[in-house]
Amino acid sequence: MSKPYQVLARKYRPHTFGEMVGQTHTVKTLMNALDNNNLHHGFLFTGTRGVGKTTIARIFAKSINCESGVSSNPCGKCVTCLEIDKGQSVDLIELDAASHTGIDNMRDILENAQYMPTKNRYKIYLIDEVHMLSKSSFNALLKTLEEPPEHIKFLLATTDPQKIPITVLSRCLQFTLQKLTVEEILSQLKFIMDTEGLEYEEFALNQIADFGNGSMRDALSLLDQSISYGNGSVTTKDVKDMLGLVHHNDIITLAKRLFNQDVQACIDFVRMLSHKGENLTQVLKDLSSLLHQISVAQILDTIEISDDVKMLSTQISNQDLQLFYHIAINGNKELPLAPSEQIGLEMTLLRMLAFRSNTTALTTPKKKNTRQSTNT
Ligand SMILES: [Zn+2]
Repeated sequence: MSKPYQVLARKYRPHTFGEMVGQTHTVKTLMNALDNNNLHHGFLFTGTRGVGKTTIARIFAKSINCESGVSSNPCGKCVTCLEIDKGQSVDLIELDAASHTGIDNMRDILENAQYMPTKNRYKIYLIDEVHMLSKSSFNALLKTLEEPPEHIKFLLATTDPQKIPITVLSRCLQFTLQKLTVEEILSQLKFIMDTEGLEYEEFALNQIADFGNGSMRDALSLLDQSISYGNGSVTTKDVKDMLGLVHHNDIITLAKRLFNQDVQACIDFVRMLSHKGENLTQVLKDLSSLLHQISVAQILDTIEISDDVKMLSTQISNQDLQLFYHIAINGNKELPLAPSEQIGLEMTLLRMLAFRSNTTALTTPKKKNTRQSTNT
């Protein structure tokens, strides 16, 4: 088509604080500091991948170097703002510590730090994954942080603040960025699809938002993939196929077998899913969601539910649902530790059945019809 394709994460990267999705606490604090011109010399942004650490740092860099003055609302039009947006500003030195671990690099950087900025108000160092710096590099950084020249700002970002020396931490204002919620990601995905004029099913976007697991960048790259997979549209079926999500009917079947306490049938079914190459972590997650739906359906008869959920809600007590849900959530946590996904899932299901409250003891294979009664 006409223009070369630009990945969504880049195309829709926020350029102002107003465009930021989530992180309201951090954004508000930074905006206040900027508007009152009350600026520290070292900032540390922590948080998992794709939550906006370097994006916030770049907007901050524009805010303090914009030619129309320091404010929370950089003009976005002056040469400096444009250069920062394009990654071409000489006074914004961006480093990825993951690839600059040697002392030589740091020494170069610090030797340059004493000189005035080339053309802007501040010389800004944006060091990503700063925890990857070597010990000697940290010492070099610390030297400048201890007595920072007026014209220097350090913007540090990391996914792993535990690895940063306390001496560096204590000289920075620290901001902890949160994982984004499904709702925050979903609303951005919808905004993008609407802006691009592309068709989508809302549930499909919801699945992508959920799969992003708090990372906007991950969700946007999934959205990129599914747009090209679906040749311009995003449907639930395509997303399911693409992400290897488990089909709803399989989860219903598993729940039925579980509620029937049919151990053999449960195990057989898990092995069948495993054989098909299904994502068993997702099976357990989807089972948890189903248990939640059934629980709500038992309590609120006003909500709309499918026939399957209605039927299942009559086959299990509320207490057992709570127990199953609890075991499912914990099973999910333990799944990475299990010898295999399949073993982890099987053990989780067996634990549900072992602890189920209001029934007779389980026996394998299958249930026996008679129990020996005792006299006394
Ligand atoms: Zn500007």
